Amino acid sequence: MRRAAGNNRSKRRRRTAPLDVGFTVGRKCGAPGAALRFFFAAPFGQNVPMPSPSILERIRVVLARPSHPGNIGAAARAMKTMGFSDLRLVAPRRAPDAEAQALAAGARDVLAAARDCGSIEQALGDTVLAVGFSARARDLSQRLSSLREAAPAILSDAARGPVALVFGNETYGLTNEEMGHCRLQVSIPANPEYSSLNLAAAVQVACYELAATARSFAPPRPGEHDDATHEDVEQLLAHWQSAMTRSGYLDPAQPGRLMERLRRLLARTGLERSEVKFLRGMLGAFEARMRR
Ligand code: SAH
Repeated sequence: MRRAAGNNRSKRRRRTAPLDVGFTVGRKCGAPGAALRFFFAAPFGQNVPMPSPSILERIRVVLARPSHPGNIGAAARAMKTMGFSDLRLVAPRRAPDAEAQALAAGARDVLAAARDCGSIEQALGDTVLAVGFSARARDLSQRLSSLREAAPAILSDAARGPVALVFGNETYGLTNEEMGHCRLQVSIPANPEYSSLNLAAAVQVACYELAATARSFAPPRPGEHDDATHEDVEQLLAHWQSAMTRSGYLDPAQPGRLMERLRRLLARTGLERSEVKFLRGMLGAFEARMRR
């Protein structure tokens, strides 16, 4: 296990003839960095983007506070069997661990490359979409979509930037705070009388469904949108919070659930970078007026 260490995926072999599209993926949790470049597969003689498993390389699995090392290993194995490789852990109870190694079997490389992120914010910082996995709808929640229904939207976003699939702790699931960072909430339809899958089993189903959808998926043309990253949105929220505090709208002694509500509201919108910029410009103008 290495802690937010360098990325050796740039050495990864290019699978097929490159199309004119390259992407950059951050090397560290929460920090953009040098890069993996990869390419949509294109059939010879055509310049239409073809669905390619390489899109899966832009989808990371984030395990929030996993308790059982065996599940971490089994999740690494589940990912590798479906063509995924980017595993991130947030505050695992035990890692590295022999049981995780044993259950990873042939996916020890995925486990060894797993990044240990200090917080959910770090694990999601550079992503354009975070997808929270939950068996149940919850208070103040986004709409809960089925994984199959959400898969095309997840892949479309992955064509534009890094995407995270976020899974919760074995006993408690995702906290409301963790879920609040996710723009999509997804469930794996299961027996209504007992719908809680084992953590690694949920990772397996998620990776299978996305890999299966990717086989018949045509990515959108690049450059249409410039999506805000998770970090851009966090900075907007921090700006909003300070402006509301300064104006007296938000009482820091009694904040209630205002910021949580605002985070959820923004998480639903899929903001573009230019929109974050003008919202922050607006807040800046209000602040300037308050200073006078
Ligand atoms: N007891 C917990 C479930 C934990 S299972 C609860 O009630 O929330 C561990 C993780 O696996 C969950 O946090 C979720 O991310 C994922 N998971 C399990 N079953 C799922 C399902 N049916 N749909 C989506 N995610 C599921």
